[in-house]
Amino acid sequence: MAESVVEADSELLPPTGIRNPGASDYLAVLVQALTHVPPIRNRLLFWDNPDGDKVADAVAAGTPLSDAVEACARSAMEDDHPSYRITGALQRLMARCIAGPREQAAELRDLAAAFGWSGADLAQGHDAQELYAVLIGALDSELAADTVVEVSGEAVGPSPNLISSLLTVSVKRTITCSEGHVSERADPAFSLQVRVAGQLSLVASLHDTFLTSETFDGDNQYSCSQCGVHRDAIMRHSLDPDLPPVLVFTLARIDFDFITFTRRKVNSSLEIPATLSKADLLNRPDAGADADVDADADADAPAYQLAAVVCHSGTANAGHYTAHVRDPASQTWWLADDANVEPSPLADGEWDPRR
Ligand SMILES: [Zn+2]
Repeated sequence: MAESVVEADSELLPPTGIRNPGASDYLAVLVQALTHVPPIRNRLLFWDNPDGDKVADAVAAGTPLSDAVEACARSAMEDDHPSYRITGALQRLMARCIAGPREQAAELRDLAAAFGWSGADLAQGHDAQELYAVLIGALDSELAADTVVEVSGEAVGPSPNLISSLLTVSVKRTITCSEGHVSERADPAFSLQVRVAGQLSLVASLHDTFLTSETFDGDNQYSCSQCGVHRDAIMRHSLDPDLPPVLVFTLARIDFDFITFTRRKVNSSLEIPATLSKADLLNRPDAGADADVDADADADAPAYQLAAVVCHSGTANAGHYTAHVRDPASQTWWLADDANVEPSPLADGEWDPRR
């Protein structure tokens, strides 16, 4: 797990809230959540902004990191940069969330402008899950264009700055025919979508969705291209063991009701653990002693620690987003609700969102 780049603050100050002009809470919660995931925060804060602040340069020249981030936060308040790209606007907004001043909420204006959005666009509600993928894709495009590395006149990649390289997780599908021929496909994504309906916990839902097996036999045999005939076969889904530094789960809280043809919010609770091990993510529940990562002595050790939770209250068609975020230095949990930030009930370790 990556450490925070910002020193522990003895006063345990909350992050700065973000003002919500209209219905922009979907964007504010994404910024708060990404700001509190150390690998993403580090990569964006240390990104060399060609148009503006250079936190990395200041730190390299001996400026304490907290001062460099504060300077970046100050310039976010002092001048408008409507021409800023998304990366630059997000870098400054992160600095504002981390370094304050807390009595004045941060503004989404520059980030929205970088997206090409007007105030009216911000006032229109959006889906935070959809925007997450759009935002990561937009950051990647900007950073890829920015940091082409030239080797003997030829551009090589991928860019070392890409945000997606911290997030991309692959779901593998392997089909093995009875003669042992293996067909494999990998689907990379920025997040793993898990079902909530009918599930008790994130880990159980993860197993039901991504660690499944299916047998093809009888009338349902598999057409093996190598054998050239239909064969009995087993299809297995699994996660690529080359896991990313940051894992994002999106919870399928919106169902479609095929009887009424309406979207429906799934309000049942889902237990989310504070840590996840590689065994939680890779060991097939049906594998028993053949568990994929049994040989790895660290398989049961915590590999991921919960860093942020984005919550939606309301119905399938309207509602409000808030974010519970963990300060990586002090481990304190905060609840960011637009401009207001207060201690999060997650800090107690016991939290039922229905209460
Ligand atoms: Zn075959």
